Amino acid sequence: MANPLYDTLFGRHAGQSAPFLHLADGSAVSYDAFLRLTARFAHALRNADLAPGDRLAAQVEKSPQALAVYAACVQAGIVFLPLNTGYTADELAYFVTDSGARLLLCDSRRADALKVVADQAGARLMTLDADGTGTLPEAAKGQPETFETTPRGANDLAAFLYTSGTTGRSKGAMLTQTNLLSNAEVLVDCWRFTAKDVLLHALPIFHTHGLFVATNIILLAGGSMIFLPKFDLDQMIDNLPRATSMMGVPTFYTRLLDDPRFTRDLVAHMRLFVSGSAPLLAETHVAFEERTGHRILERYGMTETNMNTSNPYDGARRAGTVGFPLPGVELKITDPQTGAELPQGEIGLIEVRGPNVFKGYWNMPEKTAEELRENGFFITGDLGMIDDQGYVQIVGRNKDLIISGGYNIYPKEIELLLDEQPGVLESAVVGVPHPDFGETVVGFLVAQRGATLDLDAIAGTVAQSLARFKHPRRLIVLDELPRNTMGKVQKNILRADYAGLFTSS
Ligand code: ATP
Ligand code: MG
Repeated sequence: MANPLYDTLFGRHAGQSAPFLHLADGSAVSYDAFLRLTARFAHALRNADLAPGDRLAAQVEKSPQALAVYAACVQAGIVFLPLNTGYTADELAYFVTDSGARLLLCDSRRADALKVVADQAGARLMTLDADGTGTLPEAAKGQPETFETTPRGANDLAAFLYTSGTTGRSKGAMLTQTNLLSNAEVLVDCWRFTAKDVLLHALPIFHTHGLFVATNIILLAGGSMIFLPKFDLDQMIDNLPRATSMMGVPTFYTRLLDDPRFTRDLVAHMRLFVSGSAPLLAETHVAFEERTGHRILERYGMTETNMNTSNPYDGARRAGTVGFPLPGVELKITDPQTGAELPQGEIGLIEVRGPNVFKGYWNMPEKTAEELRENGFFITGDLGMIDDQGYVQIVGRNKDLIISGGYNIYPKEIELLLDEQPGVLESAVVGVPHPDFGETVVGFLVAQRGATLDLDAIAGTVAQSLARFKHPRRLIVLDELPRNTMGKVQKNILRADYAGLFTSS
């Protein structure tokens, strides 16, 4: 095949009148209409001097047109680089310059502010708005509705995706055609997606979850998506009756459970709910099953590898675990100091190898060499273990490991206990500098709506349940935990904000 990713995901749907996207206003975009728009965009991008291998950075709202830009890039061999819509002009300047993008596509409201960014980075600026207008659609008007697909090899770059920046500065992960395609094939199979599927899609499309996991699966299966601009409870409740499946981050599920309109009847017809990108609390898993009769299928992945593991479609979906390695993905747990493989049941670094593993970080050869071993295993930076039945459990991030007085402390163990305490909605445990112990444990708590927390009682329970070196030296109540747009708790912010708790004079 000339361009495996385009041909397999997009090209074979040419001429099909079946719907690809159902929009919030009730209208639909057929595969045929989508691919004709894609071809016109591909011509416009070529006319804007984008050659195969060039990068296109896009900070645009979620829309069918934005998705067609992704498709046009794949068709024309351009490397697609979606960027978080929340980034400021300063943040964007870093990504556009770092990636060497030839073109920056943005919302027309931001065009003036971003012109400077584009000029400084030597990139051309074009616009695309959520309503489908802008200078790119303008340039695509009247262009032919077919485009001769640019040949690309399986190991050529298809996309550049910056990591979420949860643990530090975002890194540009270089993803090949094979990385994306192999994962989509495996997931369609494991999660049984077919042309009959209608996926409720409320995720952003600048992140691997919404773009590569959800969208690529639907394209490969030939199904359709209810394409909502963002997570909105009213729209979710309105659209669940016409969906067969849904993918979300844990906060989608907790917010749905908070709404009395989210009933068993509303979702009785659905076949699959998937959760990922952040840990799903066992409590949410149980509450969801009690309310709906469905067990959420939790899976684990990341920008650099797409998906690594999944709970089984058939068979037990175990709360608090991310299931088994996907077919073709090897996963092992290693000692952070020696790199040696650890036996089942021991906590260590999660390493993965397979066709899903990225090519390396753009412009970061040292970081790539540190994390991507010569034998092909990628050191994910997550800590985990394999339980007695082979399920993988994520224990946290290596960077969040607390070393206090020489002891290794896994925040998750303490968080699980804190989460169970009366009135606690959620918690986060971090290590902050301490003059005697190097680091010490601090617990942050968020109360359930209307609840007042009895911190002395909570500290008392912790003291009874955990060894002394794991006791939080301080429990601090917050209105909410700092989270990024994917719902991930940003512990680096907590660490920075409270760095002087024990050390400042
Ligand atoms: P950065 O690498 O820039 O710090 P990030 O790792 O949050 O950001 P992503 O690639 O978006 O960026 O997220 C991948 C991470 O999300 C994984 O390494 C893991 O820590 C977490 N994650 C994903 N799925 C799950 C899950 N089901 N349970 C727990 N953690 C998960
Ligand atoms: Mg990461």
